[in-house]
Order: sequence, then C-alpha cells, then structure tokens
Amino acid sequence: MHLSRRDFTRLSALGLASQLAPQLTHNLSAQSGDRKIGYCIIGLGRIADHFMRGIQETGNSKVVALVSGHREKAEMIAAKYGVPKSSIYNYENMDQMRDNHTIDAVYVALPNSMHAEYTIRSAKAGKHVLCEKPMAVSVPEAQSMIDACKAANVKLMIGYRCHYETTNLRAIQLLRSGAIGQIQSIQSAFGFNCGAGEWRLDKPLAGGGPLMDVGIYCLNATRYLTGEEPASITAYAHTDSSDPRFKTVEENIVWITKFPSGVVASCNTTYGAPMDGYFRVYGSKGWLKVDTAFSYEGLRLTAEYHDQDKHTVKLDESNPEKDPTQFAKEADHFSDCVLHNKSPQSPGEEGLRDMQYIREIYKSAGIIMA
Ligand code: NDP
Repeated sequence: MHLSRRDFTRLSALGLASQLAPQLTHNLSAQSGDRKIGYCIIGLGRIADHFMRGIQETGNSKVVALVSGHREKAEMIAAKYGVPKSSIYNYENMDQMRDNHTIDAVYVALPNSMHAEYTIRSAKAGKHVLCEKPMAVSVPEAQSMIDACKAANVKLMIGYRCHYETTNLRAIQLLRSGAIGQIQSIQSAFGFNCGAGEWRLDKPLAGGGPLMDVGIYCLNATRYLTGEEPASITAYAHTDSSDPRFKTVEENIVWITKFPSGVVASCNTTYGAPMDGYFRVYGSKGWLKVDTAFSYEGLRLTAEYHDQDKHTVKLDESNPEKDPTQFAKEADHFSDCVLHNKSPQSPGEEGLRDMQYIREIYKSAGIIMA
C-alpha cells in the first residue's frame, strides 16, 4: 500500500476528523415526536443485552422484535422489552420480518462469520442494518454487505461505539485543536485472556483471533486519532501452539502502522493475557492518554502539554457515564440517521477499510485470512 501526498490530502479531507466533527458534542437526540425506530435484535448474547438496555435510554428507538436460536430465552427477553410473541423469529424464518412493519432496522449481534449473511438477508427484507464489529471476516464479504444494502436502499452502520463515546471524542477534539502539537507516535493495546470453549477461538465462526475481536479497536483508534489512513503496516504474530485454545486462531499479534504524515503507531492485541484497552499519543508539545479507552464505562483522559504562553496544562478527566450510555448514543445516532435520512458516521465503508487493514496485518504476520 503506497499513498502519494495528493492521496493523503484527499484522505485527510475525507477522513474521520471531518466526519467526526459534528459528533464532538454528541448528545442523545431530543425525542423525535412519537416516532421511534423499531429494532429487531438478531442474536441474544452479551453485547445484545448492552445494546437493548442502551435502547431504553434513547428517546427515538425501541426493541420490537427478536431473532434467536433459543425460543425460551427469547420469550423471557421479549417479556422484558414488551415484544409480542408473534415478533420472535428464528434463524430459519427470520426473512418473514419483511412483512412486519413494526421493524425498521436490525441489530446484528452474532458471531463474526454470520454478520454478512444476516446483514444481507435483513437488507433483502427491506430493513436498515446496524451490524457489530468486525463487519465481516473478509474483504469480499464486507463489500457484498455494502452492495446488498445499497441495492435494497437501506442504511448500513457498523457498531463502532467509540465513535459516539464522550472521552474518545474529547481526545480527538484535543488532538485536532493542536493542543499537544504535531503527533509523533501512538501506542495502543487491547486484549484479554480468552476462556476455552468460546466461539471466538473457532476460526470458522470468528474469522481470526484477537485482532478481529479487540485489536480492531486499536486499529480503528489510530485512524480516528490521526485522521489519516495507513500508508504501510508491518506485523508479527506469536502463538503458543501447546495451548489447546489456539488451534485455529492467533494468540498474540503486534503491528506497526506508518501514516502518510509520518506518525508511527504501535499496537498490541492478545487472547493470552489481561490487557486493558488504552491509547497514548505523543506530540511535539506534550502527550495525551486514555486509559481505559475502550471499556463500557470508567474511561479516563489525562494529558500534559504547553499552551501558547508556554504554561504547562495538566488534564485529568474521568468520564462519569455508566454502561449502557455508549450503546444508547450509538442507537440514537443510527435511529436519527434513519428518521432523517442522514448518513451514519460509521458506515459500511468504514468497516470495509478496517477489514482491508486487517488483511494487510495478517498478510504481514504470515497468517491466512478467509
Ligand atoms: P455472544 O456469544 O455473547 O452472543 C452471540 C449470540 O449469537 C449467541 O448468544 C446466540 O444467540 C447467537 N448465535 C447464533 N449462532 C451461534 C453460534 N454458532 N455460536 C455462538 N452464538 C451463536 O457473543 P457477543 O455478544 O460477545 O459477540 C457478538 C458480536 O458482537 C461479535 O461480532 C463481537 O465481535 C461483537 N461485540 C461487540 C462489542 C462492542 O463493544 N461493540 C463487544 C462484544 C462483542 P441466540 O442464543 O439468541 O441464538
């Protein structure tokens, strides 16, 4: 991958910096009259629970239908959210949602390799799609999701919740204001000790290891912090082959990204160690850290830099927002896009770009991606 200076200027102009600008003061929308976007939740696991609780905090969204392989669980959740039993589907009959006019949009919260099929089926049923990250498990799959949503004239957003999260947006705002000067380097990491038996360790369902799951947060952060697209990526992977958890996916992966302006970012992800998500940005006039940066609550930004008068400024800002506020902001944004025919801040094309960089990282580390 090689970008000319002209490409760089164009990408900067189109980049996340400008995309995110209107979001810097993102708050939950005021109630949009009586109209609420009705969501069908596909896959009733852990993240779906956060998202459904988040929906309850919005004024423009509601849970109206469910898709699950477990009817009993679905009925319990339906009772909690006031979903009629007639709006509970399974993976075989969910295409019938085409005739359910209470459903405006779906939220795809399935294992990664199922995202493409269920996004495409939902689009064909005429429903807008908010799909969890990673968007898919390959670049062609991601492209096919974008194409299907375009063909069906429905919106597609990828669940990059940090794009709507207060502390991440504050970091972007400080960096764009030039507070810490010219960015020189970025460090970011995110990982955890993955329990045996998780679908995350099964490549046919997960598509890859920690890079697909949590490393993607670091990758995406380096792009929104710089507002640039990577010019080159080098990666190394290491897997303990005697650990029975890692028969099909990588355990550790480290990559270095060089951006067109010269910023160098180094990132780590793992399924073999507790590794709270963070990023640190070093600039010509100071530094900025967000630690933790990718959790559902408890985010904290610290910074130290010299202002115009050469005074030292020290920031220490803890975000008091509690889970599921991030999910409420994400749902609120997508519903607002559907209600007012606007483009999402994290569209399918944003997910596709990450899939392209993930492909580069795996290629450099000698790992074959789907
Ligand atoms: P879970 O395992 O908790 O839930 C996945 C759900 O998918 C299951 O509960 C099940 O729902 C359904 N499912 C259908 N087929 C399968 C299958 N073969 N194996 C396992 N589950 C299946 O996963 P998560 O909620 O943690 O992750 C789901 C997606 O959300 C992933 O893409 C992940 O990357 C993403 N995610 C995003 C996060 C974020 O912060 N944005 C955080 C965590 C995850 P049912 O029983 O109803 O059929």
